[in-house]
Amino acid sequence: MKQHQLKIYNTLSRKKEVFEALNPPFVGMYVCGPTVYGDAHLGHGRPAITFDTVNRYLKHLGYRVRYVRNITDVGHLTGDADEGEDKIAKKAKLEQLEPMEVAQQYTDSYHRDMDLLNTYKPNIEPRATGHIPEQISLVQAILNEGLAYEINGSVYFDVLKYNEQKQYGKLSGRVLDDLMSGSRELDGQGEKRNAVDFALWKNAAPEHLMKWESPWGIGFPGWHLECTAMSSKYLGKHFDIHGGGMDLMFPHHECEIAQGNACNHQDPAKYWMHNNMITINGQKMGKSLGNFITLQELFTGKHKLLDQAYSPMTIRYFILTAHYRSTLDFSNEALRAAQKGYKKIINGLRTCKKLVFLEDENIVLDENQINQIKSSIQQAYSSMDDDFNTAQAIGHLFNLLKKINSLHTGQLHPSQLGQETFNLLIETYRVFITEILGLEEEKTNNQEALLEALLQVYSEAKTARNYNKVDEIRAALKGLGIVVKDMKDKIDWAYEE
Ligand code: ZN
Repeated sequence: MKQHQLKIYNTLSRKKEVFEALNPPFVGMYVCGPTVYGDAHLGHGRPAITFDTVNRYLKHLGYRVRYVRNITDVGHLTGDADEGEDKIAKKAKLEQLEPMEVAQQYTDSYHRDMDLLNTYKPNIEPRATGHIPEQISLVQAILNEGLAYEINGSVYFDVLKYNEQKQYGKLSGRVLDDLMSGSRELDGQGEKRNAVDFALWKNAAPEHLMKWESPWGIGFPGWHLECTAMSSKYLGKHFDIHGGGMDLMFPHHECEIAQGNACNHQDPAKYWMHNNMITINGQKMGKSLGNFITLQELFTGKHKLLDQAYSPMTIRYFILTAHYRSTLDFSNEALRAAQKGYKKIINGLRTCKKLVFLEDENIVLDENQINQIKSSIQQAYSSMDDDFNTAQAIGHLFNLLKKINSLHTGQLHPSQLGQETFNLLIETYRVFITEILGLEEEKTNNQEALLEALLQVYSEAKTARNYNKVDEIRAALKGLGIVVKDMKDKIDWAYEE
């Protein structure tokens, strides 16, 4: 493994800690995945890219990461405080589909978008509905500990009782007394002993679509419980990293910690990582605000707030230009700047492929240049080691890019760097861009427009009776499986049959 001192900001301790894997070289990482009842939006893009980059960097350092990201396909209700309809069942009713059809459709579209953003697939992607027996056993275990109670076929976690032994609120920094007085003013405690209690299992009304048999009658699992069941099944009772968006910190992750302590007598994860939120033109994103943008709308430009389409790699690059713990504001201006930055970075990658080392004995090594390159490389790594500071790392990569461009234009001669530094520069740049940051070249796929441009040249050559050029273009296109057709009044093309 590479010798690096990686530091991670642990939300639980509220400070940066030196990363020490529980069982190196293995790292277990669990990230809360999407609730699949709609198209993935910006709020899904950021955690996906953040934890993909964490996964990539840990792998780069030599760890063997088991990355688990779940699919929530049951139990996520529309209302807070354990009330409301199941989000997937609601959508199914609206569209007259089976709930599992809805879940499948949006799991597929989520995967499509994640592939476009060039994220690695998780090693395990468990579905909540595939883990009902595991969730029932957890409910039973928590009941056995005396930290839950059953009422009318539902089982609730007893937060007050838990708080007598452990601290509820330690992740989010909330204080139970404040939560109690805050919730007292609200109605909707329902059958719970306290409004702060949360459902582990809910009794299902007859019209409820997704339901299972349990020792407490027919019902369905609570959303928070799913993640405890799936993370402990695949990563053990105590694993390395638990991640997700900041909006999940409370109550979702707080409840996961309480559940883990209740049935496994320990915190589920050593490090808790949370990415910050995205704003749009300075405003929080929300369906009611009309600024809710899906990833597909961004990729196609089809949204009233967008001036143009932004490619998946532009979005990925944009998200990486901010530290994951900072807020990130989407605006056309910022995205256009990101598009420019991304293209500069990728042009650098293309230049790297063309550069070859040339020995010139008359040129002496330039220690100053060599030191600048080595220092930028070292700083790019230190930035990543400092809680995955991709924003700073990109800054140092731009310094390397300047050297690459100078080599390309001839301002800098490879012999000034020597073979070793020349290779180091090119290899580090390539590895950082493609393997660590996950940025790849987006080939222009506008075949029609390119062909039209070429046929225009063909037509001009024909008018000028430049038959050599005409034959040349014909031959080049034929090599690509395309035939030029000289029509009466225009030039056309077709696939060679
Ligand atoms: Zn979760």
